[in-house]
Amino acid sequence: MPDISSLDIKYIPGVGPQRAILLNKELNIFSWEDLLTYYPYKYIDRSRTYKINEITGNMPYIQLRGFITHFETTGEGRARRLTARFSDGTGEIELVWFKGIKYIAEKYKLRTEYTVFGKPTVFNSRLNIAHPEIDPAEAIDKTPGLQPYYNTTEKMKTHSLNSKVMQKIMQNLWNGIPLPLPETLPAWIIARAHVIYRNEALRNIHFPLSPDLLRKAQFRLKFEELFYLQLNILRFTKLQQHKLGGFRFDTIGENFNRFYRECLPFELTNAQKRVLREIRADVGSGKQMNRLLQGDVGSGKTLVALMSMLMAVDNGFQACLMAPTEILASQHFETISELVKPLGLRVDLLTGSTKKKEREIIHDGLLTGATHITIGTHALIEDTVGFSNLGLVVIDEQHRFGVAQRAKLWKKNSRPPHILVMTATPIPRTLAMTVYGDLDVSVIDELPPGRKPIQTMHQYDNRRGALYAAIRKQIEQGRQIYIVYPLIQESEKSDLKNLEEGFEHIQEVFPEYKVCMVHGKMKPAEKDAEMQKFASGQAHIMVATTVIEVGVNVPNASVMIIENAERFGLSQLHQLRGRVGRGADQSYCILMTSHKLSEDTRKRLDIMVQTNDGFEISEADLQLRGPGDMEGTQQSGIAFDLKIANIAKDGQILQLARNIASEVLEKDPNLSDNEHHILNIQLQKIFKKKYNWSLIS
Ligand code: ADP
Ligand code: MG
Repeated sequence: MPDISSLDIKYIPGVGPQRAILLNKELNIFSWEDLLTYYPYKYIDRSRTYKINEITGNMPYIQLRGFITHFETTGEGRARRLTARFSDGTGEIELVWFKGIKYIAEKYKLRTEYTVFGKPTVFNSRLNIAHPEIDPAEAIDKTPGLQPYYNTTEKMKTHSLNSKVMQKIMQNLWNGIPLPLPETLPAWIIARAHVIYRNEALRNIHFPLSPDLLRKAQFRLKFEELFYLQLNILRFTKLQQHKLGGFRFDTIGENFNRFYRECLPFELTNAQKRVLREIRADVGSGKQMNRLLQGDVGSGKTLVALMSMLMAVDNGFQACLMAPTEILASQHFETISELVKPLGLRVDLLTGSTKKKEREIIHDGLLTGATHITIGTHALIEDTVGFSNLGLVVIDEQHRFGVAQRAKLWKKNSRPPHILVMTATPIPRTLAMTVYGDLDVSVIDELPPGRKPIQTMHQYDNRRGALYAAIRKQIEQGRQIYIVYPLIQESEKSDLKNLEEGFEHIQEVFPEYKVCMVHGKMKPAEKDAEMQKFASGQAHIMVATTVIEVGVNVPNASVMIIENAERFGLSQLHQLRGRVGRGADQSYCILMTSHKLSEDTRKRLDIMVQTNDGFEISEADLQLRGPGDMEGTQQSGIAFDLKIANIAKDGQILQLARNIASEVLEKDPNLSDNEHHILNIQLQKIFKKKYNWSLIS
């Protein structure tokens, strides 16, 4: 049987040499197999036409047939819309467009029969369909049932290679292809995952016989795609773990227990307890821990870090905590040394601005083992820093640390220390599984009790008067205020000018209060001094750039104002908001924007106003931007070129795929069983040209 990945598409009836070149260039489709795995992006159920008087409030996409009786354009600027009245003799429905108005009004005619497809909704107690699809009525008669739609580019369309033509070409391909198509999953996996055979899946993805079979086809193909992705990631991870034995922390000792009994200022949340158990299991296993701890801002990650470090200390190891900024490092240092004071442990702070003399003392303590816990910045990983017995490294706010920096840490002891990476920028679990294939993930999904949810509002920046009055009231009640300006690139002079003007403006508006300012271009000492003014309560208002985004803790601050909120991404807005709401008072976050907003921006702002949940926000972010733009993925440079699965939406399938991939490797780590032969072949085929996923972590 010929291998369809080596058959050229130009021999398929309806393609020919010219269209073949177009398909090569526009869609990267060369072989029969490439074409066969170019899936429709949607299907339209043409099997039933509804009558308008059958429509109820909440229906899925439906098809109607009738005439446009009237066109009307209303509104100005953003509110401009085109409304068509559409009738089929049983009733009337409105068709509405917000975009492409001129084109639509010219294209569709009165007194012509059309088929309209879309999702009806009720607005102002009238039925309407926004941005429906409209076809000449007779076009539909010939193609009943579920109709596939293929994405085509502008260039393809101008060469009349549209979705309909693609559909015909697919039919010709299917007619000429040697059937049945070979299976690409072992029989036991097909049974375990309850998926249909590949041949059936491919037939129904292009020519669905029923909605049920289409669903099964999609499930099978998504599963397969995610399964091989996971198998590939886990294969390398398992190999790595095999090589990397880790230090075993056998006991929960004196320091941990005393801390738990005597020093804990509050009861741990259940989520904190669960995560500590997960960490405990890792460090006791004899393998090196590589764990990503995700917890929303304010969820209490520091305490988990500290108690993990106590596990190391109790087993005769040193531990260190690395933070991305000096401000954060010194804050951690103060919190942690205060908390463990009764235990009599030595805790040091090492940053870039530690004086030479002090630095020598700290280096010495690390080398001799006199120091138990060290908190610091990048200064900790310099080559001049050696440890006596480093057993655990905690990295706070992971996205500011590169892979290379982490690798440097691994060399600080005879074996690599356990690594706990903490982040408050929640990555959806599904994405974490894909991007950080080698990191196990723990989640703190619960905030300490008694927090009042932050109230978030969106305001246009021409309504400053009322806002300033509200700020004044807060300050009179003893609260403090953050005002944040965007800084796209810290080097951009115009941005800095923005900030400085804002600073002057605020000083003019609030002459009776003290205003301080922090930005990334300042020297560390200067920055610290300004921060200190705010932390101590001397200054009432802090004007800043996003340097305060990460981790800063001033519980008395109750208002976060974000200027030009349209210029921030969702996760950044959420981080910034997390700087307030840390005390017992009601806190507020105000998102200031101009009136000119894109649809996406509006959605972002809505989400911020609606929810405080970081995971919900990151899911929404993923949906809005797609995985390629997410923080973390950019850094690791992964392009997501999945053909059918959607990491944002197919979380459950991904989980199933991961579980089964894991089971495969458990049974047969080298994939040498006869029935796993196909897995090796497929992995080679799929990942031949792609990234080496093992390098990503
Ligand atoms: P983040 O996860 O953002 O780093 P922190 O560790 O800074 O959060 O904790 C936020 C605040 O919550 C701190 O003031 C901390 O003392 C407090 N906190 C942590 N755990 C608990 C708990 N279980 N109960 C009450 N307060 C807690
Ligand atoms: Mg923190």
